[in-house]
Amino acid sequence: MPPPSTPSRAPGTWDVIVVGAGPAGATAARVAAENGCATLLLERATIPRYKTCGGGLIGASLAALPPGLPLKVYDTAGHFTFAHNGHKERTLACSTPTCALVYRSELDAALTEAAAAAGAQVRDGTALTTLEHQDDTVTVRTNRGDTLRARAVVGADGSAGRVARYVGVRCAQVDLALEVEVPVDERTAGRWRGRVLMEWGPLPGSFGWVFPKGEVCTAGVVAARGNPVALRAYKEDFLRRHGLLGPRPLHDTGHLTRCRRRDSPLARGRVLVAGDAAALVDHWSREGISYALRSGDIAGHAAARLVTAADETTARAVAGQYERHIDSVLGAEMNASRSLMNLFTRNPGLAHAALTRVPPAWHQLDAYIAGRTSVARIMATPVGRATAMLAARLPGR
Ligand SMILES: Cc1cc2nc3c(=O)[nH]c(=O)nc-3n(C[C@H](O)[C@H](O)[C@H](O)COP(=O)(O)OP(=O)(O)OC[C@H]3O[C@@H](n4cnc5c(N)ncnc54)[C@H](O)[C@@H]3O)c2cc1C
Repeated sequence: MPPPSTPSRAPGTWDVIVVGAGPAGATAARVAAENGCATLLLERATIPRYKTCGGGLIGASLAALPPGLPLKVYDTAGHFTFAHNGHKERTLACSTPTCALVYRSELDAALTEAAAAAGAQVRDGTALTTLEHQDDTVTVRTNRGDTLRARAVVGADGSAGRVARYVGVRCAQVDLALEVEVPVDERTAGRWRGRVLMEWGPLPGSFGWVFPKGEVCTAGVVAARGNPVALRAYKEDFLRRHGLLGPRPLHDTGHLTRCRRRDSPLARGRVLVAGDAAALVDHWSREGISYALRSGDIAGHAAARLVTAADETTARAVAGQYERHIDSVLGAEMNASRSLMNLFTRNPGLAHAALTRVPPAWHQLDAYIAGRTSVARIMATPVGRATAMLAARLPGR
C-alpha cells in the first residue's frame, strides 16, 4: 500500500497520532504504520509498564494478536472452578485448554515492539495533555511541551483517559476492580496450576477470580462502583478463603472498568476512540483485551483512511463508517453481554446452577473461552434464549 503522506513532513507533523500503548493503541499504531502512515505512538508511562489486569487471554484475544508475537505464557487454564459466595464449588474441564495467562507488562511491550517494527515511532514517558481539532488537523500537546499535529488521532488512553472526555464517551456501567498479584509457595502454585477460579460474589453483579501464573497468582474482585468499603471487605474475605491474604503482594491496586452506552459516540471529527477509552468491555466478564485488540485494528485502518480524506465531508463519512463497524462487531457482543449481565445480577444462583449443572450451558461458555463462539451467538441459541426468559420470570435474589 502506498504511503498516504509524503516523506517531507514538517517537524511535529504526523499522519496519525495514537495515544496510549495498551493493546488498543499499540495495535492501532501498528496497523496505521502497516498502511503506510507516518505514525507516532505516545505513552504516558515508561514501557514496560504495570497494568492492573488479570492478563487472561481468551480465544478471541489470541486470534487478534499479530502472528508470531513473542509472548511468554505462564499458564493455560485447562479447568475452571465456579463457586457462589464461597459455596457450591464445581470444577469443569475445558475441551480445548485455551485461556492463556500472561503479564500485561510483557504483552503490551511486545505489541508496542510490533508497532515499532511496522514503522511507528514510539515515545514513552510522554502524556497527551490537551487536544483540539481544526479543519483537517488535530493538534496534540504533551506534558513535555511538544505541540504535535496529525490528520487523525486514535485515543486509546484507557478507562479514565482524556480523549474519551474529548469525544464525549458515555457509560452504561462503571465498575471498580481491586486486584493483587501475590507470590505463592510451591504447594499453593500446585493447587492452582492450570485452573482458574470464578466466584460469584455477595454484591450485585460482583465476582472474584484467581488466575495462576506459576509462582504468582493474580486475584481480585469486581463490583459496581460506589461501595468501596463493601468491595474491600469482599476482597479481604475472598483472598483469606483462598489462602492468598498472607503473602505480601507484589502489586495491590484498583482500576475502573467501563461499558459504553449503546448510543455513546466513538469519534469526534478526526479523533477516534478504541478499547477502554471507548468503554468497549464485556458487561459480564469485564473481559476487555479482545475488545481492545479488535477495536485497535479497526481504528488503525480507519485512521489511515482519515489521512487520505480530501475534505471534512469525507472525513465525517470515514468516522461514521468506523462507528458503524465497531457497532456491528463489538456492539453486538456488548448487547448480548448486557443481557447476560442483567440475568446474572438478577439471579446469580440460577446463573451458577445453569452453568455448573446444565452441561450445554458450560459447553457454550467453554466454546466462548476457546474462541469458537461469541456471547452474541450464545445468547441467540435455544439455551441462551431459554435461560434469559426463565430468569426474567423469577424474582431477584
Ligand atoms: C482488575 C482488572 C482485571 C482485568 N482482567 C482482564 C483479563 O484477565 N482479561 C481481559 O481480557 N481483560 C481484563 N481486564 C480489562 C482489560 O485490562 C482492559 O480492557 C484493557 O487493558 C484495555 O486495553 P486498552 O489498550 O484499551 O487500555 P489500557 O491497557 O488501559 O492502556 C491505556 C494506556 O494509555 C496510557 N495513557 C493514559 N493516559 C494517557 C495520556 N494522557 N497520554 C499518553 N498515554 C496515556 C496508559 O498509561 C496506558 O498504558 C481487566 C481489567 C481490570 C481493571
